[in-house]
Amino acid sequence: MSERFRGYLGLARQFVKPNGHRLAVIEGNQDCNRDCSYCEVPYHYNPDTELTVGQTQNAIDWLYSRGYRVLSYLGGEPFAPFKTKEGISFTRHTLEVVEHAKRKGMLVNVTTNGDYLSSGRPEQMEELEAVGLDSLTLTLHSYTRAGLRHLIEVGQAAAEHRIIPTIQTIMTRDTSYKIPTIAVRAAKNGVLFRTGIVQTQGDGFSRKQNARVIPGVELQNYVFDFLRRLKRYGFVINNMNYLRHAPEHYPNSWICDPDQDPFVKIGAGGKVNVCSGVETGMQIGDFMTFDDDEWRDRKRRGVAGCKGCMFHCYYEAEHPDVFGDIPLAIVSLAIRSGRHALVKRWGQKASERVIRAMPGFYWGFESILPT
Ligand code: SF4
Ligand code: SF4
Repeated sequence: MSERFRGYLGLARQFVKPNGHRLAVIEGNQDCNRDCSYCEVPYHYNPDTELTVGQTQNAIDWLYSRGYRVLSYLGGEPFAPFKTKEGISFTRHTLEVVEHAKRKGMLVNVTTNGDYLSSGRPEQMEELEAVGLDSLTLTLHSYTRAGLRHLIEVGQAAAEHRIIPTIQTIMTRDTSYKIPTIAVRAAKNGVLFRTGIVQTQGDGFSRKQNARVIPGVELQNYVFDFLRRLKRYGFVINNMNYLRHAPEHYPNSWICDPDQDPFVKIGAGGKVNVCSGVETGMQIGDFMTFDDDEWRDRKRRGVAGCKGCMFHCYYEAEHPDVFGDIPLAIVSLAIRSGRHALVKRWGQKASERVIRAMPGFYWGFESILPT
C-alpha cells in the first residue's frame, strides 16, 4: 500500500474514532506584513526561536507517528517576502515544509492573507501544486470589493491547479452582516468559504480587546443559519456542529476537553501546546506519546486556567461531523481532480437556490462592500 493511501486511511480512522488525533497546527515564521486589530502573532516574532526547515520536518514526523494526518500550516504570513534565520525566503520554507508533509501522506492546508499571491503569476500556483498542497485558505482582512476580488482571483488560480481554495473571514459585530454576501460571491466562483468568531483572549490569533466586538447570539444565529444552507451544497468548510452550537457558547466560553487530544499546536522553539493560547512548557522530545502523565497534567492545568474560546478549528476537531461534511468532501474531491469549471457551475446553482430560499439575507455585492 502506498504511503499516501496509508495516510488517507489513517486520516479517516482518526475522524471516526473517539479521541482521534485530528488536527495538527504548526505555526511557522510568525512575521507578517499586516497588523490586524484582532491578532497578536507578529508581536511574538523572534527569528532566533523560529523552527528551521529541518526542525519543522522533524515536528511533522513526530506528529505523523502520533496519528495526526491533517496539518494546518500558519504564519505570520507564509509567503511574505522576508528571510528566515536560515537565509531562505518564507515562501521557500513553506514549500519545503508542505512537500515533506505531503511525502508522509498528510493532508496539508496553508493559510495566507494572499497579499503576495497573484493570479497573474501562474508560477506561484505551479510551485504549490508541484509540492502537492491540498488546500489554500485565503483570509480576508480588507472588507472591500477590491480586497475580495483579489482573493477570489487567487482562489480560482489555485483551483485551476487542483488546490482547494477557501475564503476565510473573521466574524465580528461589524463584519457579520457582510458574510452571506461574501460566502455567496465565493461559491459563485467555485471557491469555498469559512468563518470564525473573533477571539478576544489576547494570545496568538486573538488580541485582547473589548468583548463587544464579538457578534451577539442573534447575529451569530443569523449568519450560521445562512451558512448551514450553503453548506448542504458543499461550499462551507465549518462543520454543522460549529454552525449549530457556537452561539450556545457566547461570548467565546467553550472549554475544550483536556483529556483528549483531537488537536495540538507546535509553536516556535518546538513547543507542544494545547492551542494558540495555552502553552504547556513541553517540547517535542519531552514525551513519547500523548498518554504521558506529565503531558496530561500540564494540559489539564492549562485548560483549567483558560476562560474559554470559540476557535472554529479546535471546536470542529473535537466535534467532527463526518456525515455533514459529505457534500464538502465531494466538492473538494472535484477540485482536486481538476473539475473546477463544474464546481463553479454548481456553486452558481447553489447560490441561486440559497438566495431564493432566504431572500432577506442577500443585499447585493454593490451595497455591502465599499470599493
Ligand atoms: S491575522 Fe494574519 S494577516 Fe493579520 S496580522 Fe495576524 S498573521 Fe498577519
Ligand atoms: S478552551 Fe481549549 S482550545 Fe480554547 S483557548 Fe482554552 S485551552 Fe485553548
